[in-house]
Amino acid sequence: MKVLRQASSLQAELNRRRREGRTGFTVGFVPTMGALHRGHAELIRHARRASDLVVVSIFVNPLQFGPTEDLARYPRTLETDVRLCEQTGADIVFAPEAKSFLKMKSLKPVRAAVSLKKVLCGPLRPGHFDGVTTIVAHFFRIVRPDLAFFGLKDYQQYLVIDEMTKRVLGGKPHIVPVPTVREKNGLAMSSRNRYLKPAEKKAAPLFHKALDAARRRIASGKVTAAEVERFLHQRMAASGFFKIQYLKVYDARTLKPIRGVLRAGENRIVIAGAVFLGGTRLIDNVLV
Ligand code: AMP
Repeated sequence: MKVLRQASSLQAELNRRRREGRTGFTVGFVPTMGALHRGHAELIRHARRASDLVVVSIFVNPLQFGPTEDLARYPRTLETDVRLCEQTGADIVFAPEAKSFLKMKSLKPVRAAVSLKKVLCGPLRPGHFDGVTTIVAHFFRIVRPDLAFFGLKDYQQYLVIDEMTKRVLGGKPHIVPVPTVREKNGLAMSSRNRYLKPAEKKAAPLFHKALDAARRRIASGKVTAAEVERFLHQRMAASGFFKIQYLKVYDARTLKPIRGVLRAGENRIVIAGAVFLGGTRLIDNVLV
């Protein structure tokens, strides 16, 4: 496995591998911000199964952090990340140096779709999704992958990138969603979980339990989105979550509200939440 820090050396290596590869040679790409865990590993494994060459990027993207967010303290663990990539079957780790990467002429601002960014995390993190689409499109132009793998843990991000890729990049790469990897107790794995204090770690799994209870309510029929949201707020407050940013039920394709009684099936409904435990922000969702 190679670790490359310059876009030019990555492109030279990709050109060589493409030239030497068989016809139909496919490049699979897994963009990450590092501090890798089993969730990221699952993305890499999916890429490995589906592609001839697997590129993992590790880049803490400053454009997607707000001025009061945790950019400076975001965990950076390059050495262990590189080991995980190698053990999981990546071929190339691309970890560009921020200054020169952000100065490249090919970096152009790319906006996220308004209809997708105006709900859930969007209003709470102004500029966040535009920062994500700008950097992901920048990576896509450099790597030119056939497939790119994104976790459903960040469900809104997955929708935003899928839409951006179709609208701005003509549908290449194909965006492959990967189910959320969880701890045994249900907590969605996240680089930020390492911020949790011991008591918060105990409380954290109750978040997913509440979302799952909401899922069961919808599956058993005859509830509206407003009723499920009310149920979730009550349940989360009873579980000791006092700082709730949102708990919402939306159409899973459009992120628009659903009127009337909810009808379960085919992952058409998303139940999504963002909450704080102490100073740590957790997001999670389930599809119904
Ligand atoms: P991040 O490093 O947090 O920006 O995440 C990089 C990619 O890994 C994104 O596509 C995330 O959705 C995905 N990811 C993060 N956590 C998980 C998880 N627990 N399960 C599946 N994918 C995940």
